[in-house]
Amino acid sequence: MKYIGAHVSAAGGVENAVKNAVKIGANGFALFTKNQRQWFAKPLSEKNILKFKEYMAEHGFSADAILPHDSYLINLGHPETEKREKSLKSFIDEAKRVEILGLKYLNFHPGSHLRKISEEECLDLISDSVNKAIKETDSCIFVIETTAGQGSNLGYKFEHLAYIIDKIDDKERIGVCIDTAHIFAAGYDIRTKEAYEATMKEFDEIIGFKYLKGMHINDSKAKFASRVDRHHSLGKGEIGIDAFKFIIQDKRIDNIPLILETIDPDIWAEEIELLRSFDV
Ligand SMILES: [Zn+2]
Ligand SMILES: [Zn+2]
Repeated sequence: MKYIGAHVSAAGGVENAVKNAVKIGANGFALFTKNQRQWFAKPLSEKNILKFKEYMAEHGFSADAILPHDSYLINLGHPETEKREKSLKSFIDEAKRVEILGLKYLNFHPGSHLRKISEEECLDLISDSVNKAIKETDSCIFVIETTAGQGSNLGYKFEHLAYIIDKIDDKERIGVCIDTAHIFAAGYDIRTKEAYEATMKEFDEIIGFKYLKGMHINDSKAKFASRVDRHHSLGKGEIGIDAFKFIIQDKRIDNIPLILETIDPDIWAEEIELLRSFDV
């Protein structure tokens, strides 16, 4: 089964994300459970939670198909203790929101060293933050996203994610999300069948498919290995459409959310339909 959807809006209440996913013919989706530009938000109301669960059941969505994303402000590897602790507090709050909604995953970007500490020191801080978040929560699986490596963001090498996972005490609570635009910009080619297979082999050897809990399905405006993060609609960017066929036809990528973060929400329904047409 391929769960295909997009990062839909939850404006007006988390329950609206379910409705927005239904509108575009998705059987999975991503959402922010609060305003992504704020550190903290008021708790989800009983009404929001009940409605969300009701709509999920009504439309047959499984928690396995939903990939909540955390706030862009959070930096679990922040070199300054105070800012890192604020990030961790916000991160734990996000994980608790995921749990209260009956969901499983929280997708996050590893963090940035801001050129104040080494990559390794930053990765150690990130692992430490995630271990603390695991202790403070019940069941949420923390899903590290690959990044394009723009600025001082870590996560542009599979080795970075493997390094973090290695230091996590409870491996059942950690996973990864491949963003196709990000890995492409980071220098992992997926444009041809040969390149795709080589990249996925490398992923499997360094991280392992058992940790793959989701994918972001994006074409890239930015060139190969440019370390620039610019998404594009499928088939309109530098990656091209074939890579997305390889993904949809890859049995190792079943039963996880495949999420569009492409730039034109008006064509998400068409993009989902196109992806489904590859599932032969
Ligand atoms: Zn992301
Ligand atoms: Zn992404």
